[in-house]
Amino acid sequence: MKHLNSNIEFESPAAIKKYQEVALQEALVYLQNNSPYYRQFFKQHHISIARICTLEDLVQIPCTTKHDFSRFNFDFLCVEKNQIADFTTTSGTTGSPVTVALTENDLQRLAYNEAQSFRCAQGSSNDIYMLMLTLDRQFMAGMAYYLGIRELGAGAVRMGPVSPQMQWENIERFKPTVLVTVPSFLLKLIEYADVHGIDYNSSGIEKAVCIGEPIRHADLTENKLAERIREKWKLSLFSTYASTEMQTAFTECKHQCGGHHRPELMLVEILDEEGKQLPPGEFGEVAITSLLVEGMPLLRYRTGDICCYYDKPCACGRNTIRLSPVVGRKNQMIKYKGTTLFPPAIYEALSHVSEITDYVIEVSKNEVGNEEVILNLAVNGSPDLAEPKIKTALQTKLRVIPTIHFVTVTQLRALRPAESRKPLTIIFR
Ligand SMILES: [Zn+2]
Repeated sequence: MKHLNSNIEFESPAAIKKYQEVALQEALVYLQNNSPYYRQFFKQHHISIARICTLEDLVQIPCTTKHDFSRFNFDFLCVEKNQIADFTTTSGTTGSPVTVALTENDLQRLAYNEAQSFRCAQGSSNDIYMLMLTLDRQFMAGMAYYLGIRELGAGAVRMGPVSPQMQWENIERFKPTVLVTVPSFLLKLIEYADVHGIDYNSSGIEKAVCIGEPIRHADLTENKLAERIREKWKLSLFSTYASTEMQTAFTECKHQCGGHHRPELMLVEILDEEGKQLPPGEFGEVAITSLLVEGMPLLRYRTGDICCYYDKPCACGRNTIRLSPVVGRKNQMIKYKGTTLFPPAIYEALSHVSEITDYVIEVSKNEVGNEEVILNLAVNGSPDLAEPKIKTALQTKLRVIPTIHFVTVTQLRALRPAESRKPLTIIFR
């Protein structure tokens, strides 16, 4: 790929900023020349791209929202349709799925991004990665990991989200060194291994690249989920955060102090409600501007994810900013009994109670417009014994106790839409 300096992350913060500002100018010219949506947008908002020179100048451009992207989806396409190599969609956990079309170059960019991401997480061509997530159904992440493994020159075992039994059979057969998985699935692997006498600590697996769920608190200490995994299985956990629209990942290095930004592939801002750029340590919405994306590049795209960033130098030598774990999604902010709750905080509180085997949270508005939160919980053993522990965990962690319904595993399954790609843990009604 042209203009790509893969060592930029190790240069000084000033050099990184300068590099990004040159890349920003190129991205704006590309949008002006190729994007039907942004050409119209620049005209409508009287934006002269030549005047957007620095990262600070970006605030002069109104943000693009998920709603804009969904409503005018194919107006964002910058190439002829016959140049599209892959049609991915967003996961559709909020609203209807949106298409993100990638060209051949975009696939190569994705491969580069993921290979760099794996390198950041201590990966090398000697590793064998076992992919425990979906590779089909237009899911970008599974494909991105696979492309990244090939780019890295490592080995891939494409297991997909199959049962713990099948995963273990194939771990024994292929001896992977890294698992790529939703972290809570590691608990299911541990549980199965404990029952069947499998010694995970001598399985040869050294690391897990974790997607979809946070494994750290905002202060970067391990959360209960990570603790529960690591008190049994001594493997290194690396958190990674990405979205289909970004086509780029933030991944932790071995110092595990936030996901490193990849400055050659994306600009990132943390914004308040009005679109003002927030300083390090303050929580706001992540907005990204794509660099070197050919198919559907985005400009100041509000992701809906709430994070903060850190800019102190990292011991790994990279001088890029790092993102905190996602503390919540903007449209999943729940106002409950005078408290603001984000779903990850509820997941974290529930993870403190080992009797809970599975759950679905339902959020709805009642007749007077207040939000109702129902926790549908499946537990091991007697609900009467588990209930006081659950209430204590909720009170301590959330300061409020939502309505608790004890349900069977079959009842939980009935609550989940059959077609969802990821097992749903929260439903907004
Ligand atoms: Zn680092």
